[in-house]
Amino acid sequence: MTAEQPTDGNGASTRLPGTNIELITNELARGSFKAVLFDFDGTLSLIRAGWQDVMIPMLTDILAQHQRNCETRQDIRLLIKELVIDMTGKQTIYQMIGLCEEIEKRGGRPKAPLEYKHQYLQLLWDTIKERVASLESGDADAEQMLVPGSRQLLEALHSRGLVMYLASGTDRPYVLREVRALQLEGFFADRVYGAIDDYKEFSKGLLISDILETNSLSGDQLLCFGDGYVEIESTKQAGGTAVGVASTETNIGELNRWKRERLIAAGADLIVPDLRDHESLIAYLCGEV
Ligand SMILES: [Mg+2]
Repeated sequence: MTAEQPTDGNGASTRLPGTNIELITNELARGSFKAVLFDFDGTLSLIRAGWQDVMIPMLTDILAQHQRNCETRQDIRLLIKELVIDMTGKQTIYQMIGLCEEIEKRGGRPKAPLEYKHQYLQLLWDTIKERVASLESGDADAEQMLVPGSRQLLEALHSRGLVMYLASGTDRPYVLREVRALQLEGFFADRVYGAIDDYKEFSKGLLISDILETNSLSGDQLLCFGDGYVEIESTKQAGGTAVGVASTETNIGELNRWKRERLIAAGADLIVPDLRDHESLIAYLCGEV
């Protein structure tokens, strides 16, 4: 398959013909993947879409109590927004540690980061529990809360015999429940990972090392799909291939330009707006074209 120039006029990369798959790295090693790691939220699942609209106001309210005289609430909100976005894909606790540091810089005495994390998880759960309940009761169709093409892409990789892993920065009990609600557990079995309170014991980087060791693989046999810089960067550091999913979670199908830039900066080899072009994507990655 030959590639053509992109139609968005940025001129810097090429696209697989007739698809929205953008090739960032030329001469990618293809066809030898044995394991694949998926991020969850924003990559496959849309259940938590809009989480930023819960976290940013909550942290802004807390930090505003320690506002300096020279600061406006708007200054606080912008600072929090940057802090939250910067750490997207890492475990939630890191954003809370960032909040605590900002409180301390203003002479305040923060609560433990874990307390803020639980407060946030409860708030977010209040806004998404209906979505999960409607999936579990069968009132909602799982496909409506999946990035389009997810299930077909998973099936294609599964049928090719790749060992499949799922890793999320969200706490593990939530991830397990949401994976089941979306009927994806069959692909991942017990290979579902999420944040834990003892946060230093888990990271996507640690998991990748573990995947390579457990399966006796070299880095170039690892494939990763993610919408956050953490999983992309960790995959590239290990020598793997990374597909950046630049999804606009509330307006699916649209390329999220902000995510795209960050994913490319983190080392993504390919960029897609969603997983709709799964057939071309798999054929390309598996060296079948
Ligand atoms: Mg994500």
